[in-house]
Amino acid sequence: MKILSFKKAVYIALAAAALSVSAVAVTAAKVVPHISESRCSGCGDCIRICPPKANSITLVHGKAVIDPVTCISCRKCIYVCSYGACK
Ligand code: SF4
Ligand code: SF4
Repeated sequence: MKILSFKKAVYIALAAAALSVSAVAVTAAKVVPHISESRCSGCGDCIRICPPKANSITLVHGKAVIDPVTCISCRKCIYVCSYGACK
């Protein structure tokens, strides 16, 4: 087994710590779709496809609105929207 100098060992430990912190940041990042109010027809397709465990979309004055807290970023609402309102 190779014996590392103290300086090199500290450098490697710091690099590993930085990597694990950035990995946590990447997994924690959540991309919530955006709904264009002017394009939304209020058809409700996105509401029906939003997974029950998230149940993140509601109609407000006839327009879909996403709750960014409960959204799990599955992107199903983007794929189902035939008006190009959800991106
Ligand atoms: S599927 Fe699209 S058009 Fe229909 S309510 Fe959702 S965002 Fe609006
Ligand atoms: S990304 Fe998924 S969880 Fe979030 S609002 Fe759209 S369908 Fe619901």
